[in-house]
Amino acid sequence: MPTGAIVRTQFDTAADLAGLDASQRRLLQGPFRSVSVEVPVRMDDGRIEVYRGYRIQHSGARGPCKGGIRFHPEADEAEVLGLATTMTWKTALADVPFGGAKGGVQVDPRTLSQRELEGVTRSFTGRISLMLGPYRDVPAPDMGTNPQVMAWLLDEYSKRNGYSPAVVTGKPVALGGSLGREEATAQGVVYVMEAYAADEGLAIEGSRVVIQGFGNVGAHTGRLLHERGARVIAVTDVDGGLHNDQGLDIPRLFAHAYQQRKPVAEFVGGDAITNEALWRVPCDWLIPAALGGVISKDRNVNDIECGVVVEAANAPTTPIADKVLESRGVTVLPDFLVNAGGVIVSYFEWAQNLQQHPWTFERVNEELHRKITAAYRMVRDLRRERKAQWRTAAYAIALQRVAEAERLRGH
Ligand code: NAD
Repeated sequence: MPTGAIVRTQFDTAADLAGLDASQRRLLQGPFRSVSVEVPVRMDDGRIEVYRGYRIQHSGARGPCKGGIRFHPEADEAEVLGLATTMTWKTALADVPFGGAKGGVQVDPRTLSQRELEGVTRSFTGRISLMLGPYRDVPAPDMGTNPQVMAWLLDEYSKRNGYSPAVVTGKPVALGGSLGREEATAQGVVYVMEAYAADEGLAIEGSRVVIQGFGNVGAHTGRLLHERGARVIAVTDVDGGLHNDQGLDIPRLFAHAYQQRKPVAEFVGGDAITNEALWRVPCDWLIPAALGGVISKDRNVNDIECGVVVEAANAPTTPIADKVLESRGVTVLPDFLVNAGGVIVSYFEWAQNLQQHPWTFERVNEELHRKITAAYRMVRDLRRERKAQWRTAAYAIALQRVAEAERLRGH
């Protein structure tokens, strides 16, 4: 099920809980502005290749639009709109002064040389630069993009508008990026897990963790959980991966797969495992940290044997699978709470850029902990009070905040 459809179904359930009327629902569902562009790039062999790109601003009611740029073959318009919509709920729930947006270019970055990747980034930035700005729309990295891509985006935008570090977050620290931003999403995932574990009397130390995706979010989450004494027993990336019930050697796997960018499956220290078999590994915490729609009724939900699904990826669980997990007593901690650490530290980065005053690593993590734990507690309390799912309670808080901002603006 595509991300867009997942996000729409979840919206309807939460809009009922939040008591939104028909016009509020219409206003909050569609995009504020949606742009589709051609992205022409001169390839290394001299040819011009033309990719399709999108920048969709879902809502700017609570502040400048905010959201990552994804380079992926499946980043079509519906996918990007679904992700932009999720960003609106994420920024509202985290209570950072942003709206929601997302960008995507339909390209597989693994097929590009570094020069071609730079070409795609500069061409796409040129096409959407009219929409961007520190007080309009502030991109960040997402799947298939990274701090280097953000550096090129900053350079391309600044050529037209003068030096503007606050136009993009997730930049390298040397160009005004924030300390702690690279691992911020994973750090937030772990803070939410710790808060939930404390409430439920669970321990992170000694628990069994399974992770799909070993990029920015998956690899740092694995590293931070390993540092807290968890046993990471199975990991996959796009090409499959490894399983070892004794626990994988995460520091060495981190160096191999994340820092040296080699396939997880080529690491020594476990049995080979496919992405399909990953879901059948019994564990305490199951952490999807790759694509949307990966946990579904047809594919795997009945095979899953875990205590908690921690949605580090965006929209990894289809609505039907969500219901099945709920009926089986499996808690699903929802994406736009769990992975909000990235946008929270992006907000800190933006604030540091505007103030031209960098923060220490410790301050970033302290404030991240405070903000994401506050969001977690609000969701937990509403969930208890209304006997709702975690996801529905999180949505209801976010929808009410955005609806209130729209109402005060006169919409
Ligand atoms: P990334 O590109 O750094 O890593 C993605 C990982 O997923 C890689 O290991 C890749 O091999 C794997 N993968 C890709 N396709 C796969 C497939 N079909 N099967 C199994 N594995 C596959 O991306 P990221 O930044 O870590 O983002 C991962 C997820 O987290 C996405 O859903 C993204 O939207 C979400 N997210 C990221 C951030 C952030 O700050 N990076 C913030 C919030 C949410």
